[in-house]
Amino acid sequence: MADPHQDTSPAKVERDFALEVVHKLAKHGHEALFAGGCVRDELLGLVPSDHDVATSAPPDEVRKLFRRSLPVGAAFGVVEVLGPRMDGRTIHVQVATFRSDGAYVDGRRPESVHFGSAEQDAHRRDFTINGMFLDPIHGKVIDFVGGRNDLDQKVLRAIGFASDRFREDRLRLLRAARMAARFDLAVDPETERAILENAHAITLVSAERIADELRRMLANPNRARALKLLTDWGLFQRVLPGLDTPPLELMKTIEGLSPNTPFVGVAALLVPNSREARRISQSLRLSNQEIRDITWLVEHIDDIDSALTLPNHALYPILDHPLCELLMDLFQAGKTSGEKDPGMERFRYLLANPPQSGFSPPALIDGNMLIQHGFKPGPSFSRVLQTLWNAQLDGLIKTREEGLRLATSISK
Ligand code: ATP
Ligand code: MG
Repeated sequence: MADPHQDTSPAKVERDFALEVVHKLAKHGHEALFAGGCVRDELLGLVPSDHDVATSAPPDEVRKLFRRSLPVGAAFGVVEVLGPRMDGRTIHVQVATFRSDGAYVDGRRPESVHFGSAEQDAHRRDFTINGMFLDPIHGKVIDFVGGRNDLDQKVLRAIGFASDRFREDRLRLLRAARMAARFDLAVDPETERAILENAHAITLVSAERIADELRRMLANPNRARALKLLTDWGLFQRVLPGLDTPPLELMKTIEGLSPNTPFVGVAALLVPNSREARRISQSLRLSNQEIRDITWLVEHIDDIDSALTLPNHALYPILDHPLCELLMDLFQAGKTSGEKDPGMERFRYLLANPPQSGFSPPALIDGNMLIQHGFKPGPSFSRVLQTLWNAQLDGLIKTREEGLRLATSISK
């Protein structure tokens, strides 16, 4: 059994570093606490993805105390303090000065920031379960908002007047669905009423912030409930316009996916065809890589069904693709368990028994060779090359000579 005193996992190293940061701030007379998500996670017995520190020290004082630091949200008083390197990355902790956000003018960002007390800082946070602090030196939870009780009762509740809080920042509408799904919480009726009342205004939030929430929501194993809440609250149609709300069967598929299924995989299941996939991914301002991946998955998922009738030249590029495993997982999740699918069998067989030169062998003939043999580069040139490549994968040509003969015959 692993010795708990020897725990050198990245999570432990990160927590130790955050604790060091708190000690140093405290030594210099500042109040310093773990804040928000990490406190919630620790109370739930989960390993936090990161530790945020909130402090009474103003940002320039934080920067002075920690020379290896970067201002990340200077206007909001957030400083990133850099720690040791581990597994090729630098451990870091965000240190934010206690603040009370000013009025929200555009439903997005606070107009002004005032530094304040821990209590004020708790009240600017979104949900009670996210509004607690932990004094890690004395092991004491500091709870100004009733978060601990809500966490015990498994309730998601906005801090303060719910409808004001959603009007201040509409992104909280999506965060509500993500948090309720992720921690399996009932939504407090007043909070839910405020969500329904404000749902129409989700469109005021930037595409980037929406996409970021969707990424986090869909990457979580409880993604089906998150989607159900989005649907019930009238948010689904607004953040993914043009998509039908997912039918029960699709929701089951999404639920049956492996917990680690990445966002792009789930996103691909939601869209019916590759044109929609491209349009929606673009409107969400997803990265070019994400758009390519989602479109590829949507385009090829049906190819598993038809694997028995597809020629090698159609199958091999799929088998060779870095997302092939994910494609198979998505396909499998849509099947009743135990059901054997012949197309899937063929995929598995070929992956286990690839051709000797692989799914993407060196081309027998390339463009230069064609030119050397008197072919003129022109409109039909790339079509000839493609035909040769397909013929090679299909085993119709095995030598350069056979290839050149085929090239001659098809370019006549
Ligand atoms: P995760 O584990 O997914 O990171 P988290 O609760 O840490 O969950 P973050 O987005 O990292 O979520 O935010 C950290 C904390 O900042 C939250 O716990 C919450 O207290 C506060 N917070 C984040 N976004 C908002 C928001 N839009 N409005 C109010 N408070 C917010
Ligand atoms: Mg976080």
